[in-house]
Amino acid sequence: MQTISIPQKFFLYARKSTDVEDKQVRSIEDQLIEIREFATKEGISIQEEFIEKQSAKIPGRPIFNSMIEKIEKGQASGILAWNPDRLARNSVDGGRIIYLIDTGKIRFLKFPTFWFEPTPQGKFILNLAFGQSKYYVDSLSENTKRGLRQKVRRGERPGIAPIGYLNNKLTKKIDIDKKKGPILALAFGIYSQNESRLEDISNFLARNGIFSRGNKKLKRDRIKYILSDPIYTGLFRFSGELHEGIHKPIISKKLFDKVQMVLKDRSKPVHIKENGRIPKAFTRLLHCGECGMMITAEIKTKFYKETNHSATYIYYRCSKKSQIQDCRQSYIREEALNSQLSDLIQKVSLPQDWKYKILNNLKIEEKDSSQSCAAFVQMKKIEVEAINLKLQRLLDSYLDQIIDRNTYLNKKAELLSQKKTFEEKINTFEQTQNAWLGPMRTWVIEAADAANIARGNDLSKKKVLLKKIFGSNLYLSNKKVRGAALNPWAALRAAPTSRNLVPPAGIEPAIFRLRT
Ligand SMILES: [Zn+2]
Repeated sequence: MQTISIPQKFFLYARKSTDVEDKQVRSIEDQLIEIREFATKEGISIQEEFIEKQSAKIPGRPIFNSMIEKIEKGQASGILAWNPDRLARNSVDGGRIIYLIDTGKIRFLKFPTFWFEPTPQGKFILNLAFGQSKYYVDSLSENTKRGLRQKVRRGERPGIAPIGYLNNKLTKKIDIDKKKGPILALAFGIYSQNESRLEDISNFLARNGIFSRGNKKLKRDRIKYILSDPIYTGLFRFSGELHEGIHKPIISKKLFDKVQMVLKDRSKPVHIKENGRIPKAFTRLLHCGECGMMITAEIKTKFYKETNHSATYIYYRCSKKSQIQDCRQSYIREEALNSQLSDLIQKVSLPQDWKYKILNNLKIEEKDSSQSCAAFVQMKKIEVEAINLKLQRLLDSYLDQIIDRNTYLNKKAELLSQKKTFEEKINTFEQTQNAWLGPMRTWVIEAADAANIARGNDLSKKKVLLKKIFGSNLYLSNKKVRGAALNPWAALRAAPTSRNLVPPAGIEPAIFRLRT
């Protein structure tokens, strides 16, 4: 296969000082080894190396300054460093980097330990990382894989307006469908009463002239999808995150939330509930690490002769549906799984003190909305370029017969739809410059609440959160769960010392009943 290297010039920057904050940091030699290895993997060629043994707490490092000057002159457009905190630990130097990103002088910032995305969120988190010594982020391979997976997934949301909206070809935005929009709002209202089945909603819509594109009654799944689509509240889902849309909402967030409660309530299996536990809470969440199939659950009741009682346990295991691979994985008890999943949530939760700090920073950011629009559009264009590159690479793989036609077509469709989405983003950016602030705020609050959810007993809440954090990247093998968090969860990993770690939940039967 032909390898295509990124046609950009990179500088390498490594730094370690005698500061207390730098005590935990790798030696310069180690940084160099790791960065060079990373560069090889990413296909990046290093133009020049800058090595400094000075604190970054105050501005004015000579070697850093000379590197920045060279970048300003256009001698390189990318920097490789071990972690953002190597580049800056003060707002002046951090600001210089961000400014160079905004003006397009720096087009790539790459770290083996930190995933940076040139989006407003990415820049915001980067800025925090510059100012904070507490940041550390996970390993190289996880980051690289995650980045690729994420980019592939991003194009999922099609550009076609959902039912209730119409695409406006002139403005490229979506407008409320004056006929169908109000009917849809009524449907939400009806469902929120918790007296209708999904079929009833489908019938209601059909009576009012809303059908599928094939002119048939909408199926249950589709109704469920519609009823849980945040687009109708003015938000939209993209890349596993919620974004604030520029379209007008059809229903209120309050009504939407109520409908979500009803949906959740009605989808609960009709099993016995005790201790707030819902049986089989973690199904459709994990994949088997050995064969890739879905992890499913089983309820087993054990009878104890000695005490004359029975206890019910929930076990999770691979569904072993693979036709090509024998899977030798065994069971795991729900309690053990729960404790591991809770630990995973803990790891990406945001400490409470950080919540207020970040929310405050967001407020400042909002005031200072002088961010350069052109620079952001530039960033998006780079992302589109990256997709073009991937398309080329994909075609090469296909032509070299590394992948089969089906895989090629599927991936291509994914990439194209992703590209389309980016292009749309470029077109609508001017209106949505600060649109990320709202979702970011929501996310910060959510991330700060994550530790509480991890500690709590509401397994379905945990599942919902795990889906948000990991998407479908959770794997179970040898009774161990592993997963790579999605952004922005992945970027924010504060030091464990700043967190309230709790011991894992006790191992006791999920459901315990005395025989009558
Ligand atoms: Zn398996």
